[in-house]
Amino acid sequence: MFEIHVGIGSFLGFIEKFNQNTIAPQAAERDLKQIFPKDGILSLGQAGLLCAVLSEDQGGSGVGRSDFASMVTEAAKACASTALIWVSHVIVAKALEAAAPETIRKKWLPLMAKGQALGAIAVHEPDSGCNAGAITTRAQKEQGHYRVNGSKIFITSAGEAQIYLVLVRTDPEKGPQGMSLLLIEKDTEGFTFGRIEDRLGMRSSSSRELFFDDCRVPIENLIGMEGGWAEVMGKSMMGWGFFGAAAIAVGLAISASELAIKHARERMIAGQPIGVHQAVQFMISDMVLGTESAEAYLSDCAARADAFPEKAVINGFKAKLLASEMAIEVTNKAIQVLGGHGYCRDYMVERLFRDARGLTLHFKTSEWLRQDIAKAAIGL
Ligand SMILES: Cc1cc2nc3c(=O)[nH]c(=O)nc-3n(C[C@H](O)[C@H](O)[C@H](O)COP(=O)(O)OP(=O)(O)OC[C@H]3O[C@@H](n4cnc5c(N)ncnc54)[C@H](O)[C@@H]3O)c2cc1C
Repeated sequence: MFEIHVGIGSFLGFIEKFNQNTIAPQAAERDLKQIFPKDGILSLGQAGLLCAVLSEDQGGSGVGRSDFASMVTEAAKACASTALIWVSHVIVAKALEAAAPETIRKKWLPLMAKGQALGAIAVHEPDSGCNAGAITTRAQKEQGHYRVNGSKIFITSAGEAQIYLVLVRTDPEKGPQGMSLLLIEKDTEGFTFGRIEDRLGMRSSSSRELFFDDCRVPIENLIGMEGGWAEVMGKSMMGWGFFGAAAIAVGLAISASELAIKHARERMIAGQPIGVHQAVQFMISDMVLGTESAEAYLSDCAARADAFPEKAVINGFKAKLLASEMAIEVTNKAIQVLGGHGYCRDYMVERLFRDARGLTLHFKTSEWLRQDIAKAAIGL
């Protein structure tokens, strides 16, 4: 059992030990066999980290985006899947804190803070692509409940989470204004799961489809107003989740850089370390600069978002785009520095590369982010 830690310094210290003792040793096996890191998530909850971003009156420690990003970066150094599950959980917790009725907050936030209940965010659908405005999952209002029909795909923590924040269409006539967020409990009748996707990376994060077949969801599980999904997302997924996603990328890149530098120092060929060659030095230098620039930019974007919450969304988009593209390049170069060893499962860099590859796809793809950032700059 872990003791409760307070303050960002001790939080980071805890994660470092947590990585060494709990997360890192089995990360490769979990990746291979697609095992969900249940114990790790529970440990983060027991140590008070899982929902540290909540305000103190909601069971958190009032941690801001900069410190949240530092904590997720640290966790991602050892296991990006664990970090991804954590970020998804935080998105749901922040949404409940911002917009759930008191009964829902009281029921779930204390359990979420301790890691006894896990949250998952369910936006994506097979036919919506990355355009959330094209979702078709329908929530029809009836006496005392919504009747939900539809499906979601690629949902992190699916089957493991107890609660799902689901984007639904409450009014098909109103376009984006007819979309809302419902909290749907795992045990709801008619709610089932598809198989675990056999993916390239983030393999321990339990990515599955969700199916809703005439699910009856109580009216009080509406999070925010009907049609108010964008506002709630702004305070949860967009306002916090993108910083978490960027932090995962930075954590992966830090680990990849460290492993490549160690290898450049230790790998001897014809009596000298490969790090003496300029070609290898150039790769190392690109990795160091890429990683450090993305980390500094994330920290800057998060600090700006903490100071001006109305600018959180665009800053999160920028940090995620830069960091996720960087992580692919840095982890790819790490494989090059390790040569054939880097291509084998015995060396961690191949997992780092596979995990990094998903980061330009999830939440919003790099293409959508580029469009959003350009539109904001132009004023469209
Ligand atoms: C690791 C990971 C975790 C995930 N976790 C979750 C989760 O917890 N919850 C959840 O809801 N979803 C989750 N997803 C799903 C993720 O959000 C989607 O994969 C993503 O939105 C992209 O959608 P798609 O895969 O359908 O790609 P598509 O929409 O089919 O896009 C394919 C390509 O076309 C481009 N494209 C499509 N439309 C346009 C356009 N209008 N303009 C320019 N380019 C365009 C895209 O950028 C992309 O390059 C996760 C995905 C991954 C990889």
